[in-house]
Amino acid sequence: MEKITHKKNFRHWIQAAFFALTNGYAQGYIQGKIYRGNNKKICVPGLNCYSCPGALNACPIGSLQAVLNSRQFTVSCYVFGFIMAVGAFMGRFVCGWLCPFGLVQDLLYKIPIFKKIKNLPGHKYLKKLKYVILVLFVFLLSSIVKDVTGLGQPWFCEYICPSGTLFAGVPLVILNPNLQAAIGGRFFWKLFLLIFLLILSVKAYRPFCKYLCPLGALYGLCNPISLYRYKVDSDACIKCGACQKACNMDIKVWETPNSMECIRCGNCKTACPQHAITSTFEHVGRKFKENCVKKPQYEGENKNSSTKNIIAGTIFMLLNSFCLLIMTYILLAYILSDIMFLGNTIVAAIFKFMPYILGLIALIGVLCADVFYISSKQDGIGSLKAYWMQKHCVILLGIAVLIALLSMEPYFMVYGSESLIVNLVILIAMRLLSGKDWKKTDINLD
Ligand code: SF4
Ligand code: SF4
Ligand code: SF4
Repeated sequence: MEKITHKKNFRHWIQAAFFALTNGYAQGYIQGKIYRGNNKKICVPGLNCYSCPGALNACPIGSLQAVLNSRQFTVSCYVFGFIMAVGAFMGRFVCGWLCPFGLVQDLLYKIPIFKKIKNLPGHKYLKKLKYVILVLFVFLLSSIVKDVTGLGQPWFCEYICPSGTLFAGVPLVILNPNLQAAIGGRFFWKLFLLIFLLILSVKAYRPFCKYLCPLGALYGLCNPISLYRYKVDSDACIKCGACQKACNMDIKVWETPNSMECIRCGNCKTACPQHAITSTFEHVGRKFKENCVKKPQYEGENKNSSTKNIIAGTIFMLLNSFCLLIMTYILLAYILSDIMFLGNTIVAAIFKFMPYILGLIALIGVLCADVFYISSKQDGIGSLKAYWMQKHCVILLGIAVLIALLSMEPYFMVYGSESLIVNLVILIAMRLLSGKDWKKTDINLD
């Protein structure tokens, strides 16, 4: 129990530090005005309101609605690519470690009044509500309902988001007298909802995250396929249930270690008496050691290639060649026109240049993986190596996209994100197509 408390405290410090880092615009708190600099074009991973006086960045759900409700309907590749890239990397790890409203609810649940419960009655049905809110309030209403000028509203922000009310609405109204005169019924509705959810959070664990948050819903969809994932060693697990008991999201970890509800807090890993639960990093480290000792044999793989692998591998190659072509074209255009270096310091130019280099290496890597895949025998070893290579190149591509986001390199944000999505789909396809063959091998690189 003591070990879990230490880990929880460490997590809360990380949550608080991330909040301080992304909400450090002190002038905003003094003047009651929001920061409008260039950083606001970059999203943070959590539900952190754009209008918070201290916010240096934008909220992904707010940005998504801002694009959807604009006059000309467009789905922003950048915002959607950002959410998918973060989700593909770490899924709901964001909820456990990087979201300010998650921290608020965690702290409220620690207040020792009321008898604590994990879930509200009707949990099984209520947890689906967040998907309804995602589809209805974030996507449909924001993009369909428009006024006479063709402008829509960010419905989720306007009528629901308690994070926005807490971090933006309330402080701005307190600090800015002009806004005090302008408040109306909508503000009081949101204030009521916020107070209700805050009181509920003292009794039940993270009710907003469990039942209402559309961002948690999106990241949750990524949990089963994200690169950061949990694995339960079925030989070591004795199904004692200690993990579920320690889990405030009430997940049967031994059955669904990558549940869409898991916020990756890590309590279950610490509580497991058998140390049967491992995360990707621990798992990759262990597998790396094993594979260094026992190297796969490469000879003779281009005999007996299966038709399935040849057809699928060729499609993968075509898709990746297209991605590589676009990226090379943009990079060459940049270099030839000198745009990248105009008005930039050397450091900024290198920072903008780096995603392309990493992206090109990753795309050449996935093309090699495709060649491995095409030439793999039916015993599965070749396709397993291809999958392993594809997986690591996807990680590299993801890092390149993150650097592009930080350096605000617009073309790579779009095309890099698209290449990342294409290669994630290929990764899943490889697994679905060849997973059964791998069971025949004595090497498991999963
Ligand atoms: S579910 Fe939403 S509010 Fe809760 S931690 Fe995740 S992003 Fe933040
Ligand atoms: S605590 Fe560990 S041993 Fe017990 S059920 Fe969970 S994973 Fe299995
Ligand atoms: S399953 Fe484990 S990591 Fe996920 S929410 Fe529960 S305790 Fe936290």
